[in-house]
Amino acid sequence: MIESLLIANRGEIARRIQRTCRDMGIRSIAAYSDADRDLPGISEADWAVRLGPAPAAESYLDMEKLLAAAIGNGADAIHPGYGFLAENARFSELCRERGVVFVGPGPEAIRAMGDKAEAKRRMAQAGVPVLPGYAGEETDGPADLALLGREAERVGYPLLVKAVAGGGGRGIRLVEHARQLAAAVESAQREAAGAFHDPRVMLERYIPAPHHVEFQVLADSHGAVLHLFERECSVQRRHQKIVEEAPSPILTPELRRAMAEAAVNGSRAIGYVGAGTVEFLVDGEGRFFFLEMNTRLQVEHPVTEAILDLDLVRLQIEIAEGRPLAIRQEHLAPRGAAIECRLNAEDARRRFMPSVGRLARLKFPAGPGLRVDTGFATGSVVSPHYDSLLAKLIAWGASRDEALRRMRRMLERTQVAGLPTNLPLLQAICDHPEFTGGEYTTRFLETHEQALLERPAPPSLLREQVLALCAVEARLSGRGSAPAGPGSPWAGAARLGDGLGAAPTLRRVLKLGEAEHAVTVRVLPPSPSGHGGREPAGAFALSVEWRGATHRLRCDPAADGKPGDERLALDLEGVRLEATVYAEGDGRWVTLRGMHLTATSRDPADEPAGAAGADAQRLQAPLPGKVVKVAVKAGQSVAAGEVLVLLEAMKVEHPITAPHAGRIKALRFKEGDSVQRGDLLVEME
Ligand code: ADP
Ligand code: ADP
Ligand code: MG
Repeated sequence: MIESLLIANRGEIARRIQRTCRDMGIRSIAAYSDADRDLPGISEADWAVRLGPAPAAESYLDMEKLLAAAIGNGADAIHPGYGFLAENARFSELCRERGVVFVGPGPEAIRAMGDKAEAKRRMAQAGVPVLPGYAGEETDGPADLALLGREAERVGYPLLVKAVAGGGGRGIRLVEHARQLAAAVESAQREAAGAFHDPRVMLERYIPAPHHVEFQVLADSHGAVLHLFERECSVQRRHQKIVEEAPSPILTPELRRAMAEAAVNGSRAIGYVGAGTVEFLVDGEGRFFFLEMNTRLQVEHPVTEAILDLDLVRLQIEIAEGRPLAIRQEHLAPRGAAIECRLNAEDARRRFMPSVGRLARLKFPAGPGLRVDTGFATGSVVSPHYDSLLAKLIAWGASRDEALRRMRRMLERTQVAGLPTNLPLLQAICDHPEFTGGEYTTRFLETHEQALLERPAPPSLLREQVLALCAVEARLSGRGSAPAGPGSPWAGAARLGDGLGAAPTLRRVLKLGEAEHAVTVRVLPPSPSGHGGREPAGAFALSVEWRGATHRLRCDPAADGKPGDERLALDLEGVRLEATVYAEGDGRWVTLRGMHLTATSRDPADEPAGAAGADAQRLQAPLPGKVVKVAVKAGQSVAAGEVLVLLEAMKVEHPITAPHAGRIKALRFKEGDSVQRGDLLVEME
């Protein structure tokens, strides 16, 4: 019996595991790094121990520290969650040696499945279909390109170069022609060496537009192996999932049976114990191929829990306790459908660049069929040391349509401010006919990237958005109330005088998406005739000049807020709207008609932030990270768009590219250097 369990992870999954511990009467111990001290999961746990400084190598990846924390605090088990040490065979082994129960499979299974080439070999032996490929060599040295070239001809192009030890979509490169092979191998090896300390690569035939369909398996230490049906995970960016659902909309009952059988047989063949996931690709003809096995709990496990009404963490713990599974395959019947959206702190429009900083606001709706797993709360800080997952939003419905409707409403009612997130992208995905139709493949996101990222608002909507932002500006500048102080934007306007007597004038440039909108906002004197003289206290009227026309609106702030953090009732010449508003510095986060707008506001006299010109010559680090490659030399001429430096941050590589053709004047950092946000990386001329 496990009585006390250390959680060797952070964020949403740490909190998720705690929930089950509480339910099972197990004492939970949160282990945290300095960066995570103030996250809600720490104070909620029964006990908490500090591991060390923020870098994962000194905290969540430090096996000795974790074991010491577990043993020193009376834990009899460790749950690794996902990521970090979850698929580290040595950690599973060390736990065993020190007499601590590892909630996961033994080192043998992790080792076999952690090596993608070995896993394919073992699965093929068990009769599971695999894609043709080349397993690579058993050496850590530089790749033998001549040999790889010959093997590539045999496998056929297009093919993928894959890190044998890969995970999280890293170390995967598409090669369409023989001439691209060497560069792809080099770059996959570099990424793999950095991320997994293992540069080995393999080759695999590429399927142009597959579905990613995976089966959840569960095996106890008494020989029972079950499957918990499938999850469809084809909505991916950079080979990483962002939206998942169960059941898969494309499986026929026959295909489902065949794939489930393959997943169970494969797991049985390797003597698997614990919860695991067998990933497959399904091609256009309904053929399926083993991709890899993840020997851990998966990020997207909640959709399986939702359709089967099970607690996978509880089942993992029971298996780890050596108990036989109490459920039988024939009793498992999925009910309804579930969808999960991964809310990430990333700027989808800037190549999914992760964002860091303080979450000024984070709020999720509750309701029937809705679940939110998050490790953050309003005020939490998103650290550059870990990945960008902020929360998982899960919606269940009796049908896929109902799950989708609930998900859309959940996304509309989610409030997140302070950082760019992929919330608008998630909404665009859930509205896209290819997704709603259920026919999407792993190419879905890249094929429709433009349409999904830049959904232009129709003119009437844009007008509402600009006017709502104007109402926010008016509120922020202390409209109408006491005379503006010297720091107020009204002050300058009043000095300039605008010929409107008492009505102060505010000129702003609002940037919404890529477009800038110059507006002139006037707060009108109270008009007794306006609303039959019964003006709500605090309400006011505005006149806005935008695009050569004058627009009038009325604004009534809800009583419970304050300027910049409130709800506004707007009346746009008879159209009534409610806006939820958050403002911080130049940033504006406004939710209107279920759409989440991120905007900035500036004084027209100021230089636009980050504009071309001087800045373009000096390329700065967009976020804190490490320089993993310097691709150019000082004095070299480069073309526009050429990659100059590769920066790694939050587990992702970011190319710093030339904004225009020119010559490299100076490089300020070398490979391996750490950089802070704003550090000057490259000077061009
Ligand atoms: P899943 O397959 O469960 O959907 P992902 O493959 O996206 O999940 O990865 C799960 C989590 O683990 C992510 O936070 C990812 O960044 C992290 N991760 C994946 N592989 C590794 C690895 N080898 N080392 C460290 N973290 C990893
Ligand atoms: P990871 O361990 O990083 O999750 P996977 O091998 O599971 O790597 O692949 C991640 C994703 O990359 C898949 O879900 C799929 O979208 C794509 N992918 C992988 N292998 C292939 C392939 N042979 N053909 C087409 N797409 C592939
Ligand atoms: Mg995978």
